[in-house]
Amino acid sequence: MKLETAINTAYLNLKDNNIKSALLDSEILMSNAINKKREFVILNLKKEIDKKNFNNFQNMIAQRLKGKPIAYLTNKKFFWKYEFFVNNHVLIPRPDTEVIVEQVLKIFKNKNKIKFLDIGFGSGCILLSILKERKDFQATGVDISKHALKVCKINAHKLGVKTGIKLYNSDIDKFSLGKYDLIISNPPYIKHLDLKYLERDVKDFEPKLALDGGIDGISEIRKTIKKSSELIKYGGKLILEIAYNQKYEVKRLLEINGFYINSVVKDLANNDRCIISTKIKE
Ligand code: GLN
Repeated sequence: MKLETAINTAYLNLKDNNIKSALLDSEILMSNAINKKREFVILNLKKEIDKKNFNNFQNMIAQRLKGKPIAYLTNKKFFWKYEFFVNNHVLIPRPDTEVIVEQVLKIFKNKNKIKFLDIGFGSGCILLSILKERKDFQATGVDISKHALKVCKINAHKLGVKTGIKLYNSDIDKFSLGKYDLIISNPPYIKHLDLKYLERDVKDFEPKLALDGGIDGISEIRKTIKKSSELIKYGGKLILEIAYNQKYEVKRLLEINGFYINSVVKDLANNDRCIISTKIKE
């Protein structure tokens, strides 16, 4: 069978089952099945696909039909400037989260050798992207998931990050190591009862541990702020990712814990996404 025929059949099948980016998904999965770049696939549509690769392709299409995200099928996701390894134990990096990386680079442009902590590093996409830009920074990461620790280590290796990084598998509540100039976190912030309204691809496949923010959606944010206020240096910055509707509540929590609010930054869709604050009081 020609690549073209296999791709078109899969495309129609995905489209009929309401998968939004049906053609793109078929092309990406084909490029994964034959282990070539997508450009190769598009330029060689008349080439024949061998049986083993075809079966592999069909198998991935069947999983995609059930909603399994492309990133989990290919074990890859681009974030910032790099390709990260991902599996179903970590949240798939979102473009919106790049706002945190941007802000860190901007705020600390003229500062050297800062120590920063990432609470709930997951795939390591934020922490490693920052380290790749700033080789002089010292990163510490803590995550409750031992699977995330493995994934982040794989990514550190993939990106050639060997020094300036310490990773711990721990509940943040039990972590008390060091004092930091900067703390960043993209904690779980979806209300428990709202989890069921997330898209099927997210709801059925991404780790609840990385999404579930408890009954009010801010249980983990509350915990992160409280703990950060102990782990941060006086004058240190805390940069948190939040949901579009959590600004007022999170500002209040930050103020109670001795933080001054510097700014709230919007994401690409113009939603409030990240809140920047400075520790000014004990
Ligand atoms: N941004 C993610 C989503 O909307 C949620 C990430 C999180 O809870 N930290 O699916």
